[in-house]
Amino acid sequence: MGYQEIWAPWRHAYVTDPEKKVRTDFSKLRFLDGADSDCFICQAVADSPENDKERLVLKRNEHSLVIMNRFPYNNGHLLITPRRHVGRLELLTEREHLELMDTLSKIIPTMEKVMNCDGFNVGLNLGRVAGAGLPGHLHWHLVPRWNGDTNFMPVLACVNVIPQSMDVLWELLRNELNP
Ligand SMILES: [Zn+2]
Repeated sequence: MGYQEIWAPWRHAYVTDPEKKVRTDFSKLRFLDGADSDCFICQAVADSPENDKERLVLKRNEHSLVIMNRFPYNNGHLLITPRRHVGRLELLTEREHLELMDTLSKIIPTMEKVMNCDGFNVGLNLGRVAGAGLPGHLHWHLVPRWNGDTNFMPVLACVNVIPQSMDVLWELLRNELNP
């Protein structure tokens, strides 16, 4: 994976404030069988679509979700996840596999159109030793890349700018992915 080279200081919030979470009324969440109530993906799956903006959910499919990474390595860093809380590829059904790859395939041209990016890193971290922050719930990382981004990112990076730009980006991508 090449994206470790990007300097992403806003991820500092993830390190210094790991308890930073979406305010959640657990009585209103409808968890699937086997869900982990502490897992932010399971919470997003269980929550009402009305809260999609707060949870950064871009698209809800039958078996999968597309979510913006709250602590991105690069602008537009997305997560493509199955709805079910499973941490191993062999536990996915054939339909889940197909839908996840189909979703990934369709998002790439949308991202190219909206974000004008030059390439992507697509990756799956299996297990904590491999860098999975949430090893119990599979999620593919889709990280847009621009020519020269390893050079200009440190110049543009600013903790205070990111939350606003993520809101704007959520609106843009949400509209594109849900025509
Ligand atoms: Zn989960």
